[in-house]
Amino acid sequence: MAAADILEDVTEPAVTEPALPRTRPDLDALPPYVPGRTVPGAVKLASNETTAGPLPSVARAIAEAAATANRYPDSGAAELTSRLAARAGVPPGSVAVGCGSVGLCQQLVQATCAPGDEVVFAWRSFEAYPIVTQVALASPVPVPLDGDDAHDLDAMAAAVTDRTRVVFLCNPNNPTGTFVGEKAIEEFLAKIPPHVVVALDEAYIEYARPGDGRTDTPDPALPDAAVPDSLALARRHPNVLILRTFSKAYGLAGVRVGYAIGHPSLIGALRKVFVPFSVSTLAQAAALACLDAEEELLERTGHVVAERGRMAAALAGAGYLVAPSAANFLWLPLGARSAEYSGRSADAKVIIRPYGDDGVRITVGTPEENDAFLAFATGAEALRIAGM
Ligand SMILES: *Cc1c(COP(=O)(O)O)cnc(C)c1O
Repeated sequence: MAAADILEDVTEPAVTEPALPRTRPDLDALPPYVPGRTVPGAVKLASNETTAGPLPSVARAIAEAAATANRYPDSGAAELTSRLAARAGVPPGSVAVGCGSVGLCQQLVQATCAPGDEVVFAWRSFEAYPIVTQVALASPVPVPLDGDDAHDLDAMAAAVTDRTRVVFLCNPNNPTGTFVGEKAIEEFLAKIPPHVVVALDEAYIEYARPGDGRTDTPDPALPDAAVPDSLALARRHPNVLILRTFSKAYGLAGVRVGYAIGHPSLIGALRKVFVPFSVSTLAQAAALACLDAEEELLERTGHVVAERGRMAAALAGAGYLVAPSAANFLWLPLGARSAEYSGRSADAKVIIRPYGDDGVRITVGTPEENDAFLAFATGAEALRIAGM
């Protein structure tokens, strides 16, 4: 008998699959967070990161902090908290540090929502909002952007019900780059019950400049052009929570640190749901070193803003509709063509980010990286896919 025949004669004993651990069935319907792709050798303009690495002083602070990696971090991040508070002119009890501002978004929903409570946000906006909402068993209430890919604040105010606990206002909005000014936010706040938290997610505020988001035709219906003074808004309205991050303009996306500024009662609740020690010693040291070098880091945003203008003009000149951006990225509302467009861009070694059937987002990088995208975008194939 050949070996194969012997094997065939063996009858498999009945195997009972062990029961699997039981997890929440509703998680099956939850879309995973899709990060921007990283492709070796390609230009990555898909995650709104800073292209330049950390400043030498920041890298040194991280290396020095690594020497104490055997010890737990200061879970209250006392030094960073008091530094941020002094800088904002608020007491330390008004500042909470978090594991990125995404961590703070999650803490906010956990700290305010019981199951079934509602969280209002624009759509499209930051993909983390529906995820942190559903993970907390709260109900997402997405409100479509207006025809200019900007927040429809009237519709958002109208979407607030007795069950609403949080409104996320992403300003400038990721992924469309549009922003609303202080007057529009003030008018919006007047319509929101004072017990509902309005979270101003200002992850990109360092890139906003006066006049951003305006079109050439003065239109009283458009948001005012001033960059909102969110600290003043938070002082006037105890339900305003400001969310900021070190991930974008400060270049620490890989280190994970953000912060919230708001009323001490809300900040106290955020701290209660903080995962202990989730802001590492390295992250705290890196953030402090960034604050020491703040002027230099913020100067970099000027170069990004200049490149943003150059790219927007080149794209508009080639016939694209480009949403006015107050952030470090541009939005092309390409509709159903978005996936094919971003796929071809990846073939051309420039990774950009498609958003379903809505559009594509391109991070503003270095002049060379931006030129690589523009070379693709103004080529015959890209123009054909974009329908021009
Ligand atoms: C990138 C981003 C953040 C910041 O996320 P971190 O967790 O701080 O890295 C927050 N909100 C929006 C809208 C963002 O795009």
